[in-house]
Amino acid sequence: MSEWQKTTWREKPRVQMPDYTDETALNAVEAQLSKYPPLVFAGEARTLKKALGAASRGEAFLLQGGDCAEAFEQFSANAIRDTFKVMLQMAMVLTYGAKVPVIKVGRMAGQFAKPRSAPTETVDGVELPSYRGDIINELDFTPEARIPDPKKMLQAYTQAAATLNLLRAFSTGGYADIHQVHAWTLGFTDQDEASKYRDMANRISDTLDFMKAAGLESASNHNLQTVDFYTSHESLLLEYEEALCRLDSTSGKWLAGSGHMIWIGDRTRQPDGAHVEFARGVLNPIGLKCGPTMTSEDLKALMAKLNPENEAGRLTLIARFGAGKVSENLPRLIKTVRDEGAQVTWVCDPMHGNTIKSASGYKTRPFDAVLREVKEFFAVHKSEGTIPGGVHFEMTGQDVTECTGGVHAVSDENLSDRYHTACDPRLNASQSLELAFLVAEELTN
Ligand code: PEP
Ligand code: MN
Repeated sequence: MSEWQKTTWREKPRVQMPDYTDETALNAVEAQLSKYPPLVFAGEARTLKKALGAASRGEAFLLQGGDCAEAFEQFSANAIRDTFKVMLQMAMVLTYGAKVPVIKVGRMAGQFAKPRSAPTETVDGVELPSYRGDIINELDFTPEARIPDPKKMLQAYTQAAATLNLLRAFSTGGYADIHQVHAWTLGFTDQDEASKYRDMANRISDTLDFMKAAGLESASNHNLQTVDFYTSHESLLLEYEEALCRLDSTSGKWLAGSGHMIWIGDRTRQPDGAHVEFARGVLNPIGLKCGPTMTSEDLKALMAKLNPENEAGRLTLIARFGAGKVSENLPRLIKTVRDEGAQVTWVCDPMHGNTIKSASGYKTRPFDAVLREVKEFFAVHKSEGTIPGGVHFEMTGQDVTECTGGVHAVSDENLSDRYHTACDPRLNASQSLELAFLVAEELTN
């Protein structure tokens, strides 16, 4: 393979990226970002990679979740806190069920750029370029709003830095202390989920009291009081990614300094394309979305490029086929992985194959379909004798009405009540927790 540099993606065919018209402005932004501190550090990315390696062997389990698209207007400390809190609750449910450590990775602090199914959008006969995420252009349906503006990368960086700062404080500053397991229940809107969670929290508290009385707590106190929380996003806007690349002095390798884990989307995974070229050269753990059109040949080529040394934890395959399509697609890709003797971590994204348009016109996802895809994913791994290593959700700590169904049923007619996503529909806090209980059940079966 030809030599990699952080700029070699520029020689490859690119899709889903904006055509910036003002090259001077673009160059100025890139120069500025290149001088800024990286958002994450190489040691952290290596620790996450090790943890994902453990998940590939069934010794840990990945919980990856957050917004489809982070938005400048919805940026607030409370929103970050609430998503963080729901992820801690879900992780607690999963740890309790699976009896393995849960690796917590947010779709946060960098999840700004979006691939789109069409380059333009037409409303009432007016055709405009599609919205591509706040790091690129604006959601408003006006010609000016849809012009890609490179300066938005600077605002995205600032928001990502502030988000990470808060996440780091929450992770280590007492908020994530397991002794707070009861305090995390505040704000539950759904009584069933709340009582299930409270039961579990009571049992955890009892265990903690026992450990304390038996003198067992102090040795592991630090681990009980803090959590490791990582960030991730789709590595789509390569000018931003390149500008945040930093050389790691410990290993002499390059780090994508924009987030701990980056992934390649289902629309940008061409083996000879720009996005794969960029990702192959950085030391971070890499996610690869696998939809129904992923062929065995593509997957072989991608595994060879993205993980030539077959390192555990380096490559996470994020299956997103859609409910009813898992059994025809997952086994053939598992076979490819097996034939190649490749080390991968299998993760289920039950969101992106289950998006529909509701009768009321909203883009939504039926909670039932999400549940079914998760179950199908576990069933296939069980019959193949392979390891389900984690789950990947679009979710928020807010009480939104974007996906239909759940115990506290959101109906088609309810969708307009609190539909706030800038892109795809997310699970709300109670749907997320309900899903965590289901996954925990699957893990114990
Ligand atoms: C996403 O994760 O938001 C996304 C666009 O996913 P995919 O590439 O799997 O469609
Ligand atoms: Mn999405």
